Amino acid sequence: MEYGDKCILVLGAGASGIGAAWVLGQLKANVILNDYKVVDFDDETRKRLEAAGVTIITGRQDNDLLDGVDRIIISPGISLSIPIVQAAMERHIEIVSEVELAYDICKSPILGVTGTNGKTTTTTLLTNVMTATGLPVKVGGNIGDSLSEVAYSMPEGGYVVAELSSYQLETIKDFRALGAIVLNVSPDHLARHKTMENYIAAKKRIFSNQLSADFVVLNGDDSIVAAMAEGTPSQVLMISQHGEVHCGAYYKSGTCYAVKDGVSRAIISDDDIHVQGSHNIENILAVIALTYALGVDVALIGKVISDFRGVEHRLEDVTTIHGVRFYNDSKATNTDSVIKALEAFTEPVILLAGGHDKMTPLDDFMAFVKEHTKEVIFMGEAAERFEVAAKEVGMSRIHRVTSMKEAVELGYSLATPGDIVLLSPACASFDWYGSFEERGDAFKHWVHTLEERS
Ligand code: ADP
Repeated sequence: MEYGDKCILVLGAGASGIGAAWVLGQLKANVILNDYKVVDFDDETRKRLEAAGVTIITGRQDNDLLDGVDRIIISPGISLSIPIVQAAMERHIEIVSEVELAYDICKSPILGVTGTNGKTTTTTLLTNVMTATGLPVKVGGNIGDSLSEVAYSMPEGGYVVAELSSYQLETIKDFRALGAIVLNVSPDHLARHKTMENYIAAKKRIFSNQLSADFVVLNGDDSIVAAMAEGTPSQVLMISQHGEVHCGAYYKSGTCYAVKDGVSRAIISDDDIHVQGSHNIENILAVIALTYALGVDVALIGKVISDFRGVEHRLEDVTTIHGVRFYNDSKATNTDSVIKALEAFTEPVILLAGGHDKMTPLDDFMAFVKEHTKEVIFMGEAAERFEVAAKEVGMSRIHRVTSMKEAVELGYSLATPGDIVLLSPACASFDWYGSFEERGDAFKHWVHTLEERS
C-alpha cells in the first residue's frame, strides 16, 4: 500500500504502535495514534510524534475514530475481538499488523523467525551470522526497535532480521519473508488464540506468501511444525537432531551439518558450542540451514556460532557459589521452555518456578519435573496450583516462598556442591515484576548478594 495522504489509525501506543505512527508520519500519511488507556509518553517520544504530525488520542476508543480511516495498523498486544476492531471489520476497514507496514516499506528482503520458544535466541544468532557477512543487516520486531522503524531506515542490498510472534503474523496481508524459520509450536498464548488450530494457523502465515525461490526452515523433530511442509509454496529446509535430512541441517554424533540436495558439510561440533541444551542445538541448526541456503560461507557460520554465548535471561549462567551453579532462565514463561532447561542438565536441579499463572495444563509437565528435579520451590500467584499439581504426581520435596530473596536463599541452603539452582518459572512475571527482565535481574541480584556473603 502507498501510505502518502491516506488516513491511518494506529491502535496501541506501545513500542510498535509508536514506531508505526512515527514512520507513517514520515511517509506523509494522516496518522492517529490511539490507545484506550491514558498513555504517559516521555517528552522525547511525544515531541518526536508531534514533529511527525501524528495526532495522539489516548484514554478513549470510540467508534468515531474510524471515520474516514483507510487502514488500521494494529499492535501485537491487541486482540481482534475488541469492540473497535469488530466495528472496523463491519465497516470493511482493512486491519493489518505493524509487520505489514514494515514489509510495505522495506527495501531489503526480510528473514523472519517464529516459534513458541527460541525466537529471540535464534533471531540474535541469525543476525550475528548475517552481520558477519559484511552486508547491511538490521534486526527488529519483537526484539529491539519496532520492525517498521527498522524497515524505514534500512538501505537496499542487505537483510532485515525479524522476530515475529503469532500475534504479529495473525494480521499480515502481503508480508513475505525471503527466509522464514518456524522453530516449534507448543501450547502458549491459548487465552488469546482460543484454539491450537488458530495458533498453528497464525504461525503458518510466516510462509504463506512466500514464492518458490524463498526458503522456509521447518523443525522435523516437532510433529506440528514438520507437518507444515505439506503445501508450502517455497523451498523447505528441514532441521533434525534425530536423523539426516536431504536439504537443511542436522546434528549427528556431536556435530552440526548443513545439507543441500543430500550433500553434507560439517559446520560446528559440541566442543565449539558455548550454549547449553538440545533446544539451543535446534536454534543453531535453524540458523545453519537458512544461512547456508543463502550462500553464507561455512567457516564464517561456524565461527559466529562458536562466538555465541546466548542471550541474557535465557538459561544464563549466573555464577557458582561453593560448587552450586545458579542459572537464570527468567524468560522461560511456559512449561515447554522449562522442560528444555531441565533437559539441559544431568546434575541434580533445584527448580525455582511460579509467577503469573498462564493456566496451561500441568499434569505431564509436573510428571517431568518430578523426574528431573531434586527439590522444587514455588512462588507467586501460580504457587498454589503448581503445588497441587506437584502433589498429584507424587512429588514430596515441595517448598513455598513469598519473595525472590527467600527463593534464592532457600535454593542455596537445599543444595550441595555440584547441584544446579535454576530459576525457570513456567509463568509470566507480572504478579511481582514489570517484565521477565526485571525478574531475572532480581534473581541475579539476590544470587550475587548471597555470593558476597558466602
Ligand atoms: P522467545 O523469544 O521465543 O520467547 P527465547 O530465545 O527468548 O525465545 O527463549 C525463551 C525461553 O525458551 C528460554 O527459557 C530459553 O532457554 C528457551 N528456549 C530457547 N530456545 C528454545 C527452543 N528451541 N525450544 C524450547 N525452548 C527454547
